[in-house]
Amino acid sequence: MSIDDAILGEEVGLYKTLLESTRAIPWKIDWATLRFAYIGPQIEALLGWSPQSWATVQDWCDRIHPEDREWVFNFCVSQSQAGIDHEADYRALRKDGQFVWIRDVVHVVRNPDGSPNALIGFMFDISERKRTEEKLLDMQRELEELSYKDGLTGVANRRRFDKVMDVEWREARRLRQPLSVVVLDIDYFKQYNDHYGHLQGDECLKRVAGALSGALRGPRDLLCRFGGEEFVLVLPDTDEGVALSLAWRCLDLVDKALIPHAGAANGNRLTLSAGVNTIVPKEHDELNPFIAVADRRLYAAKERGRARVVSDDMVSREPEP
Ligand code: GH3
Ligand code: MG
Ligand code: MG
Repeated sequence: MSIDDAILGEEVGLYKTLLESTRAIPWKIDWATLRFAYIGPQIEALLGWSPQSWATVQDWCDRIHPEDREWVFNFCVSQSQAGIDHEADYRALRKDGQFVWIRDVVHVVRNPDGSPNALIGFMFDISERKRTEEKLLDMQRELEELSYKDGLTGVANRRRFDKVMDVEWREARRLRQPLSVVVLDIDYFKQYNDHYGHLQGDECLKRVAGALSGALRGPRDLLCRFGGEEFVLVLPDTDEGVALSLAWRCLDLVDKALIPHAGAANGNRLTLSAGVNTIVPKEHDELNPFIAVADRRLYAAKERGRARVVSDDMVSREPEP
């Protein structure tokens, strides 16, 4: 052996040691035979399959999760044929039947004419990263849900109201359908807090929200806590008559909940007042004035004695017997 050969041998040994002591798993596939020329021994620790068992591209393909297999194979073949370096994340099958998330980073070694000669790559274990990603996604979903929910009562909050109203407004305009809102406000709630205390007031808001939920007819109806002790019912595809009777149903449900209110000037039970408005939105109509009209009717209901619904500007409707 010449000195050059000895040095070369030493260098090869060094690179082999380096390659086989990293956490990334090196491999090489000859393009002409589609067989593994090499795979790092670390593969056995990660997946349980011995390096000798990685003979052909088919072996690699068979050890990809069935849901990932087709796109990974097609992607890697087409990129390789085009001579483009690439990477793919997929679930690799372990000998014990479990799957491990792998990132395969592939370099295409090309012949002088540009055709692929070999593929050289590294496999990385990215299962920890995937777990973190999934946890983050879960947290994001949870946060999104929380950000649309009123913390006290659990019904939708103002943010969600704005979002849903925007969608339903455009839908009603597109389909020329009536859209209704019922704005509800607890009567003499300041006195309720004064009489029973703020904590009991919070409990009362929860009970009212629970009672009002009973008026929802289906998934498109939405009950929101608009703020303070005010709630709004969004009623898509609902005309004025139906909205009015639903508003009364709300008042009735709260009445049936039998929430005592010793401080009320209109009896000794908690009541609500409501304003209703309905619109088939046209091009020039705007949302805020539409809500403002419902609000004005709510205050008309207060002025006219509370515990009632007002649904138009002219006629006061007396409480139903
Ligand atoms: P009206 O019959 O005219 O509606 O009178 P009111 O006393 O109900 O109305 P007002 O707007 O004067 O008072 C509303 C009260 O609601 C004032 C506020 O302290 C109380 N409030 C608002 N938010 C909360 C809450 O989250 N918890 C409790 N306990 N009270 C709240
Ligand atoms: Mg009130
Ligand atoms: Mg109020």
